[in-house]
Amino acid sequence: MNDINPAILNREDISVRSAVASWLGAFEDALGNTDTAALASLFEADGHWRDLVAFTWHLSPFAGAADIAAGLANAQPSIKASGFAIDPNRTPPRRAKRLGRDVIEAFFAFETDLGRGNGVVRLLDDTNARAWNFLTTLEELKGHEEHLGPRRPSGEAYSRNFGGENWLDQRNRSRAYEDREPTVLVVGGGQAGLGIAARLGQLDIDTLIVDRLPRIGDCWRLRYHSLALHNEIHANHLPYMPFPQNWPKYIPKDMLGNWFEFYADAMSINFWTSTEFVDGAYDDKEKCWSATVRRSDGTERTFRPRHVVFANGVSGIPKVPDLPGLKEFKGDVLHSHSFTDGSGWHGKKALVLGTGNSGHDVAQDLHSHGVETTIIQRGSGTVVSIDPSAKMNYAMYEEGPPLEDCDFLASMATYPLVVHGYQLAVERMVELDKDIIEGLKAKGFKYDIGHDKTGHQMKYRRRGGGYYLDAGCSGLIIDGEISLMQFDTIETFVEDGALLTDGTIVPADLFVLATGYYAQQELVRRLLGDEIAERVGEIWGIDTEGEMGNMWKRTAQEGLWFMAGSLAQCRIYSKYLALQIKAVEEGIIEGQRAD
Ligand SMILES: Cc1cc2nc3c(=O)[nH]c(=O)nc-3n(C[C@H](O)[C@H](O)[C@H](O)COP(=O)(O)OP(=O)(O)OC[C@H]3O[C@@H](n4cnc5c(N)ncnc54)[C@H](O)[C@@H]3O)c2cc1C
Repeated sequence: MNDINPAILNREDISVRSAVASWLGAFEDALGNTDTAALASLFEADGHWRDLVAFTWHLSPFAGAADIAAGLANAQPSIKASGFAIDPNRTPPRRAKRLGRDVIEAFFAFETDLGRGNGVVRLLDDTNARAWNFLTTLEELKGHEEHLGPRRPSGEAYSRNFGGENWLDQRNRSRAYEDREPTVLVVGGGQAGLGIAARLGQLDIDTLIVDRLPRIGDCWRLRYHSLALHNEIHANHLPYMPFPQNWPKYIPKDMLGNWFEFYADAMSINFWTSTEFVDGAYDDKEKCWSATVRRSDGTERTFRPRHVVFANGVSGIPKVPDLPGLKEFKGDVLHSHSFTDGSGWHGKKALVLGTGNSGHDVAQDLHSHGVETTIIQRGSGTVVSIDPSAKMNYAMYEEGPPLEDCDFLASMATYPLVVHGYQLAVERMVELDKDIIEGLKAKGFKYDIGHDKTGHQMKYRRRGGGYYLDAGCSGLIIDGEISLMQFDTIETFVEDGALLTDGTIVPADLFVLATGYYAQQELVRRLLGDEIAERVGEIWGIDTEGEMGNMWKRTAQEGLWFMAGSLAQCRIYSKYLALQIKAVEEGIIEGQRAD
């Protein structure tokens, strides 16, 4: 029962703890004996196990008691996991409702031959308990622990170093890369790049970020004027350094951009701004990349890093569709990527093509600047209120457990559970958002909640778009302040605007294409060539294992990794990606996925 004083526990606590402790004990015995039958008997027939790097050095989902038992027994001889016990430093075991089922949920710790791990188990019953959900994660590699808290650096190397380099001298030398190569080159310094660089720094891996923008944080600053984050602050912290307590719930883009700059400095991240990654090739013999970057003055440097992490955004190359007659249009044409605000078009008329987040936000911004705006819908779309509906998916972060514990809970679900969870949430969201949905439909808006009723969250995971988190534009459409037009009513674009099939012309001075971006595989193709792009395959979306395609894990191309996602995903998965890179560097695993 660990080191908790039983005198402070009530009867309920004791019963919950004893169910968990006895399950963990039986689990350890069965695992130690690699007894597949005994392992299988500890899981529900419809049980799920997700391993984040601890047993499989991969992000691996398993479904069903037999598969889980086989996976565990297969890994155990080399991993040698042991010491499974309730973690006294985390939220105590408790009863909870998860995906409609009553569970006992407990955080546990364990060790492997090479590392220390964390996990979560959800049991369905107190007696003869079997696990329904099970998560194992690698926390750290023994001998390579992060320099945090009691392990913080002494600072001797640069403090009171009379006659020698001080901290700033060392930082300047470190980021100049005059006489050395980075081990890891990170392409892109948004939240994905900063997250992985901060984590690698803690593992003593020499890392350089390059970003083509002039200032750290510009990836957010340069977005449109009115942007604020859609998720509440408590889900959005970067690794190691939470946002200040007095910050607003919904962080405005410039505030976030400035934080990124501050964060890079505070985390001693080596960062070259105004530097574009232009070309890369992998040297199989030397096991490193030849990676060329170009600075804004035109000078180039070719680095020889062992790893390249693409953190260059899933929205890198704007997609511009071939629209009939668009060349004839005499007004301004912009992709939403280049739209900042509508002040230059006050009193004029605008068309906005696309009903995703960007389309709606651009339309709302134009409207707020006194522009007569029409939004054009091509396919159907999901619309969700930011509050109360969208925030439901992050409700766990408001339950009380610390951020790290919530991150474990958020990482537990395998694909079938993710789908089921979102289906349950969507049922509730549709109810909560009934008035908006009905109002939009009455205006002719084509509304959907995804083919399997998983709503915006699965659209985000599958294709990174196709939905709108309502920041107020839906109300403007419903009230007729912003007009809605269906794309199939347009015959062609003409000099003055859009000619409709009924012969009328919708006049416009500005046409904004909020038509999305090419997938990241296209960035790989353009920067690393067809062969690597084909070898790696689809990036983002759901892969055959039910995990995010090529994200945060080894790929088919040695030394090539991908980081992307929401602020929460970047915080969570940067840890596992950094540990994998460290494991490659330490010769524990190969640098490419074995198929
Ligand atoms: C309106 C809106 C609201 C949002 N709200 C939230 C929210 O509340 N919570 C949340 O988690 N997410 C939110 N997001 C989504 C998400 O966080 C972002 O899209 C995020 O920017 C992704 O981060 P990233 O680091 O992967 O990519 P990016 O921010 O796109 O950064 C990529 C970087 O790579 C650089 N780059 C690209 N190619 C190269 C190259 N060849 N060489 C050098 N540099 C290169 C770019 O300059 C850029 O700085 C929101 C997005 C929008 C538009």
